[in-house]
Amino acid sequence: MKKIAAFALALTLLLISVPIRAHDGTPRQDKGPFTLKKLTDDSYALYGRGGNIGFIVTSEGVVVIDDQFANLAPGVDEQIKSVTKQPIRFLINTHHHGDHTGGNGYFIKMATIIAHDNVRKHMLAQPQETIANAPRQIAGLESRIAELEKNNPQSEQLSRLRQQLENTKQTLESARMMKVSDIPAPNLTFNREIKIHLGGKEIQAFHVKRGHTDGDSIIYIPQDKVVHMGDLFFYKTIPVIDRAHGASTVEWMETIDAVVARVDPSSQVIPGHGEVTGVAELKAFKQYFMDLRAAVRQAIDAGKSREQAIKDVKLEQYASYNGYAQRFPGNVGIVYDEMTAN
Ligand SMILES: [Zn+2]
Ligand SMILES: [Zn+2]
Repeated sequence: MKKIAAFALALTLLLISVPIRAHDGTPRQDKGPFTLKKLTDDSYALYGRGGNIGFIVTSEGVVVIDDQFANLAPGVDEQIKSVTKQPIRFLINTHHHGDHTGGNGYFIKMATIIAHDNVRKHMLAQPQETIANAPRQIAGLESRIAELEKNNPQSEQLSRLRQQLENTKQTLESARMMKVSDIPAPNLTFNREIKIHLGGKEIQAFHVKRGHTDGDSIIYIPQDKVVHMGDLFFYKTIPVIDRAHGASTVEWMETIDAVVARVDPSSQVIPGHGEVTGVAELKAFKQYFMDLRAAVRQAIDAGKSREQAIKDVKLEQYASYNGYAQRFPGNVGIVYDEMTAN
């Protein structure tokens, strides 16, 4: 384990020190994946490669919110140490996805990890899900690769698919090796709400309803007027709606309403993805679901099939959002499924 951590650190340092070339061949400055943003005297946001991290420094220790990927964890630790000598006491996972919990294996040795009950449930079920689903994904990738090799062997897509196939095989292999007792899942879980009282600060973690998954928490620090939404908020970014893990767009909107009603209206809001912003932008994100649902409803009322709706429904006002081309059609399909399920 120490070896892996050392390797990851070495790799991180290598990535930081080697000047990266952009696709056009011109060298550009790369200061590593991290950008640290001070929000208040004690609260910070840390942008890196996965979901946004938040952390709060108190006189009795640090509380961290989310931890991106395993290979970035030592770098995250280093960023926190650059502003305080206080130890990390608690880590809160906003939900179970790997870009928010990947560093758990590193931080669980020094901190108590807190999350909603379903975060632990989904993390422990992950290897079994992979073993159940990966063979189908591998077969699908192999047939697409075979088809491309026959019809379009120069295609750029081919090397991407081969890489994806390799990754999926590796993920399956490690899922087969994984012991449930080795999974660094949260060791302190709650159903509705928990409060941490540390060094004169109160840090609230609360679950409202289903949203991006069925286990999302919002973290609120009233004294600092800072909110971390996890992936309940994608800022200027088309969201991921994880229906397989209990997502619901209706309850997601209700969740946003409850957060807006609860937090100070002048709060700074850390989204799961995108830049730190405010409560008005969070409300605008709810509008995305209202517009999406109205458009899909119209397609259903016009008698369109799921496939036809995915092809026809467009929301031009969101076309500039990150991930529109990749994720918007999927969002339409999911809402179609929600609306046509009994
Ligand atoms: Zn995420
Ligand atoms: Zn997520």
